[in-house]
Amino acid sequence: MQKKLPVSGVPPPPTHTHTDRQWESTNKGSLCRSFFPSVEQRLQSNLPVSPEFTAIVSEHGKTKSYLHRFGILDNQTCPCKGGDQTPEHLIYHCNLLETQRGVMKQTIQKSRGTWPTTNKELITKYLGPFTTFVNSTDFNILT
Ligand SMILES: [Zn+2]
Repeated sequence: MQKKLPVSGVPPPPTHTHTDRQWESTNKGSLCRSFFPSVEQRLQSNLPVSPEFTAIVSEHGKTKSYLHRFGILDNQTCPCKGGDQTPEHLIYHCNLLETQRGVMKQTIQKSRGTWPTTNKELITKYLGPFTTFVNSTDFNILT
């Protein structure tokens, strides 16, 4: 059951400073850090940072675990019923994204990579297939 959104809706993406502070202070940052050693490095790299991409690689996007934290959702269970809808879940486990994940997996294996890979390798070595995966993710089926 979805609670009414606050008047301002979903909070806008945090500003740089805000993100930086959040990055340092939140324990949840450990997942972010497994993708990027630092915010600075992320900003300096030429990543295709779409809202969807941000949602998946950070916990600041429109995943259920994020909305739950802001009290917008009662729970953060993914509609696949396979667990909480964390970025990790979406990338490696969610069976609603099996098709998209299959494409990414194939591409990675074709380039002699292994699956499952690490978050770091997704960004450093497999950014192409990973971006395709993110871009083909329909967030409407995930709510
Ligand atoms: Zn799921």
